[in-house]
Amino acid sequence: MQRSELTIDLAALRRNARTLLRALAGAELWAVVKADGYGHGAVDAARAALDGGATALCVATVAEGLALRREYPATRILVMGPTADIAAAREARLELVCVDDDLPEGLPVHVKLDTGMGRWGLSELAAPGRDVVGVMTHLATADCDADFAREQVERFRRATQPYAQLVRHVANSAAAIRLPEARFDAARCGIALYGLSPFGTDPAEDGLEPVLRWESHLAQVKKLAPGESTGYGRRFVAEHPTWIGIVPVGYADGFRRDLAGTEVLVDGDRRRVVGVVSMDAFAVELDHELPAGTPVTLIGEGVLAEHHARVAGTINYELVSRINASPQRARRVVRG
Ligand SMILES: *Cc1c(COP(=O)(O)O)cnc(C)c1O
Repeated sequence: MQRSELTIDLAALRRNARTLLRALAGAELWAVVKADGYGHGAVDAARAALDGGATALCVATVAEGLALRREYPATRILVMGPTADIAAAREARLELVCVDDDLPEGLPVHVKLDTGMGRWGLSELAAPGRDVVGVMTHLATADCDADFAREQVERFRRATQPYAQLVRHVANSAAAIRLPEARFDAARCGIALYGLSPFGTDPAEDGLEPVLRWESHLAQVKKLAPGESTGYGRRFVAEHPTWIGIVPVGYADGFRRDLAGTEVLVDGDRRRVVGVVSMDAFAVELDHELPAGTPVTLIGEGVLAEHHARVAGTINYELVSRINASPQRARRVVRG
């Protein structure tokens, strides 16, 4: 039996794209599929997003852009991260983001302004050269501080006022959903497309449906006598006779070590992860004996990546993008 299985629901991704398009009220939706589509599979995620109405794809590296170009010969593909490989990008008709005065030539360029993210980008916008097709900025706090995000939007609006003929794009998922003034001509949305909340809350609150399901099973079930423990460091010691199930998924699969204490579904019931998560396995506490092979849902059916992220002190972005979907570890099934 496969150790675990990831099911990617492309119909849900298409619906999320349409939900975002409604929120964008006329601005274009550009689908961010970097990091292998936040762990969902970039090529499949891109197809569903385009079917759902997205008009461009955004990635972090030229290598990611080249892989998508092979599948999507005519789609606008924007490489958002810095790159040295300009010739390959030109050859593949990718568009690049320029973050300094060193403008690449012979391919479409989007100039990035740093309006408060304090990361990539120019602090002043000079008159754009002839290859410049777009101007953009990135918001630092669209998910948590709308006032600061609005200040960034205003700085951007003032700096780019003379260049309104260029494509102007600012919003990420959080801004697309909650900050109408950030819409401009296009929004670069990632997390929300995958049905995950940019706010770390239940995605249903914003009409989003999780795209990814992660399932495994109980590989072994045993009873701990009082005083017996499970896992490294004996961090869980049974106080009374306790049934536990061992799930063949661990931190090398992306089920992080700090997910101890979170909950998964065992045969439909919420059960607590006990002890320390190992590289290839973790334990759940059961309230009665169950047969080996009993299904376990790690993400899906109401078990939210957002909840796991809170337990692990991280964000849903990091959790899903680090799920190891290599064929040696998991099987990826694409539906819809
Ligand atoms: C990753 C990224 C996005 C997408 O952000 P989400 O919060 O996932 O919607 C948008 N713009 C830039 C520059 C990014 O790096």
